[in-house]
Amino acid sequence: MDLFEYQARDLFAKHGVPVLDGEVIEKAEDAAAIAERFGGRAVVKAQVKVGGRGKAGGVKLAADPADAVAKAGAILGMDIKGHTVHKVMLAQTADIKEEYYVSFLLDRANRTFLAMASKEGGVEIEVVAEENPEALAKIAVDANEGCTEAKAREIVAAAKFPAEIADQVVEVLQKLWTVFIKEDATLVEVNPLVKTGDGTIIALDGKVSLDENADFRQPEHEALVDHAAANPLEAKAKAKGLNYVKLDGEVGIIGNGAGLVMSTLDVVAYAGENHGGVKPANFLDIGGGASAEVMANGLEIILGDADVKSVFVNVFGGITACDAVANGIVQALELLEAKGEAVTKPLVVRLDGNNAELGRKILTDRNHPLVQQVDTMDGAAERAAELANK
Ligand code: GDP
Ligand code: MN
Repeated sequence: MDLFEYQARDLFAKHGVPVLDGEVIEKAEDAAAIAERFGGRAVVKAQVKVGGRGKAGGVKLAADPADAVAKAGAILGMDIKGHTVHKVMLAQTADIKEEYYVSFLLDRANRTFLAMASKEGGVEIEVVAEENPEALAKIAVDANEGCTEAKAREIVAAAKFPAEIADQVVEVLQKLWTVFIKEDATLVEVNPLVKTGDGTIIALDGKVSLDENADFRQPEHEALVDHAAANPLEAKAKAKGLNYVKLDGEVGIIGNGAGLVMSTLDVVAYAGENHGGVKPANFLDIGGGASAEVMANGLEIILGDADVKSVFVNVFGGITACDAVANGIVQALELLEAKGEAVTKPLVVRLDGNNAELGRKILTDRNHPLVQQVDTMDGAAERAAELANK
């Protein structure tokens, strides 16, 4: 989960990373009192989960409280790279002398953590990495040792930070590492980390991504979820414990096993090329032991998607045999009917693997008008795409 800048800033403050005072508002007129509290001047910053806000006009300096209201009004509602600004942060202004870059991230490719640092911060770091790669130091951080003082000094030396700020940056790096570990983050990035006129080091912008796999031990992170932005179907699926991702096509997909579902997406997208370009409407893996209830929950989510025109249930019987899945489908249809959510969209079912014959017989005997069976994956994808294009 990516955080907003103001949430990252809160986590920084919690762990002692130096930040400036800031406050979030949703109404422009609230900017006046905050700017007043900061002594009149303030920086108005769009809160959107995308980088490059500065360049896009989403970061503006306000000279006085009235100007803060005007700037906040101009930024609220703005579209930045497809993200609408619903909140702005008012922050104390900084007298910036130099802008640096530092980050910690999970380096999956090398199975370690990585620190990155550069004297050339402020600008988009991707540009530095591209055009001047030697200006971006990359130092592996061992998970067991962490960012010790010695490691922080190694990073500072590799990035060639000026000597007069070395001690401060070493301290900031260790505190950012604390944020990274204590909050179970996969990314903690500061761009820019600034040196002010009086030589103080401050984190002026923060980007934090939290590892959702650690949510069970981070109860406080629930409060950071942006419920307004979440896709309602994905939120509903998550509440039901389903592995669901909304996509923008028309063919609803249910399968067992992430690998099978992934290949089902490919096969449906391919088949769709001959049927008006229809595409998969979602990813949904109902997992191994798919009960009738899980099947019903899955169908309910998918059928609740107005974009869905047909559904492809693609199951390869393994530990959970096809007869159990077929019974699950039959019961799911009844469960939905009983809830007053009777199925109105065609279902194409392909059962193969363990007890496929018995599973197919169960569906044949049930003879539901909207359920059709196709024995091969390609054939079923073709049929589902064709039905979605009607
Ligand atoms: P980003 O463009 O989304 O990364 O937003 P940042 O928070 O990094 O801000 C972009 C740029 O605005 C920074 O690199 C600074 O140059 C400038 N900026 C941000 N806050 C202040 C401030 O308090 N005072 C001044 N003078 N400039 C600021
Ligand atoms: Mn930035």
